[in-house]
Amino acid sequence: MKPLVVLRQVYKSFHHLPVLEGISCQVEAGEVVSLVGPSGCGKSTLLRLMCGVESPDRGAVERRFQRVGFVFQEARLLPWLTALDNVGLVLLGSMPLREEREAHARRLLADVGLEGFEGYHPAQLSGGMRQRVAIARALAVAPDFLLLDEPFAGLDFALRLRMLDFLRHLLADDGRTAVYVTHDVREALALGDRMVLLSSRPARIQQVFDLRDKPKDGWRLGPELRQIETEVMMALLAD
Ligand code: ADP
Ligand code: MG
Repeated sequence: MKPLVVLRQVYKSFHHLPVLEGISCQVEAGEVVSLVGPSGCGKSTLLRLMCGVESPDRGAVERRFQRVGFVFQEARLLPWLTALDNVGLVLLGSMPLREEREAHARRLLADVGLEGFEGYHPAQLSGGMRQRVAIARALAVAPDFLLLDEPFAGLDFALRLRMLDFLRHLLADDGRTAVYVTHDVREALALGDRMVLLSSRPARIQQVFDLRDKPKDGWRLGPELRQIETEVMMALLAD
C-alpha cells in the first residue's frame, strides 16, 4: 500500500530557531501513528507540514491524501453558531442544499454521541462535548487523513479517558489513517499502530516503535508495551 504522506529530510526553523531537524518518516494508508515528544519540541509544526499549511525550509513533503481533517487542542468552534451549524459550515462548498447539509451534520453529531444537542451553542456545552463537535466537524469532509493535535489535553483525567476510548473505537472502526499527537506515552501506546518518539527541540526522530501485534486490551497494555512505555519514559528523562 502506498503511504499517504512521506517526509524526506525535512528541516524547519522559525526566525533562526531550528524546530525540525532532518525528519524522515511516512504514514501508510490505514495506520494510526502516535507522535510523542516533549512540549515545544515541534509536534504541531510537524503536523502543519504534513497537511501542507506550512512548508519546509529544506527537504520534501509528499502528500497523497485527498481531504484532511484536523482536530486541535481547543475545539475552535464559532461561538455564535449551534453545534449543528458549526459542523454544517464546512459542508457549504460540497452540499449546497441546506436540508442535505443539516441531515449530514445531524448524523455526524449522533456518531459522536451528541444526539439532542444539535441546537446548543458552544458555551452551553461541556469541554468534552465541544471537542466532540470539533471531531464531527473534522469528519464531515470525509477525510482520508485525520490529524489530531493533543485533542484532549485540556480535559480532566476521567473525561480524557472516556474521550480516548471513543477515539480508539472511531479510529479502529473503518481503518482510518491518522496521526495522533500527544505528550502522554500511555495514550500513544493505546491508540497507535506505530509510535514515533521525537527529541526535544530541534525535533529529531529518536525512535520508531512498531506497536502492532503487541498484546493490548484497551488500556490494559501487555508486557511488551509496558516495556516500551518504561523505555520511552527513560528516554524522555534523559533527553
Ligand atoms: P509542540 O507542538 O511540540 O509543543 P510547536 O510545533 O508548537 O511545538 O512549536 C515548536 C517551536 O516552534 C516552539 O518553540 C514555538 O515557539 C515555535 N513556533 C511554532 N510555530 C511558530 C511560528 N509560526 N512562528 C514562530 N515560532 C513558531
Ligand atoms: Mg503542539
